Amino acid sequence: MSADTCIWCLEHADGMDEEHIIPEALGCPPGFVLPGTVVCRKCNNGLADLDGAVIDEFDFRAFMAGVPRKKGRSPVIRSRGNVVGTVEKDGPAISFNMDPVPTTAHDGSRLAPYRGSKRDVRAKFTKDGNIARISFDIPFGQNRKFLRGITKIAFSSLAYFLGAPLARSLAFSPVRRFVRHGAGDRHVLFTSSSDNTYSNSVWPPYVSPSGDYAVTFRLTSLEFLIDLSEEESFIAMFQTKAPEFFGEKNWCTLPVET
Ligand SMILES: [Zn+2]
Repeated sequence: MSADTCIWCLEHADGMDEEHIIPEALGCPPGFVLPGTVVCRKCNNGLADLDGAVIDEFDFRAFMAGVPRKKGRSPVIRSRGNVVGTVEKDGPAISFNMDPVPTTAHDGSRLAPYRGSKRDVRAKFTKDGNIARISFDIPFGQNRKFLRGITKIAFSSLAYFLGAPLARSLAFSPVRRFVRHGAGDRHVLFTSSSDNTYSNSVWPPYVSPSGDYAVTFRLTSLEFLIDLSEEESFIAMFQTKAPEFFGEKNWCTLPVET
């Protein structure tokens, strides 16, 4: 594998633009990018919908945290059926529609009814004495493209820290196939961070004595752990040892076994 070969398609990389490892709409740490000699333009564009799936999954968190979208645009919630969130003159505003018929959102746009789809958000209103509460029930991690997008971030992070020549190794073919084509079954471990604030961080990968790699990073207020070994030989160990390594947190595995 020569230099200037794309880590995804293993063909000549002709990309001119750098690729943000964490989508800009979620707040990519400064400089956390791969150059165009590492990811070709075709893959950069072709895999963009995976970034979109990750952005969609975290739209609420990014909106609440006020993270600007690409090119400094205001944060927005637009890809949910029954919710619209925009930043207005007076600050952020969110409209929900829990009714079975469409209505009009605060910004005049059409607000679809609640249909119980995966992208719909269920809002529950309760009254506790004089305090009214709204709680949101937002389905998480059920989109396979989201899992591929998270795995893409993990693998890009490996290339960033340990170099593109390593990432071009054929040992990562199953990871590439999963990210590029959705082939095979791979998993993502995640847990809530203890502080619950919005911040993104990345750490150098773990390497086992046998030369297998795993990547951890924090995205919004969640911490992710992705096993990049050929046959996910790490994951069972991580599932049992994670509390020991990272503290007694409630680690979950995606996709959820049904
Ligand atoms: Zn490529």
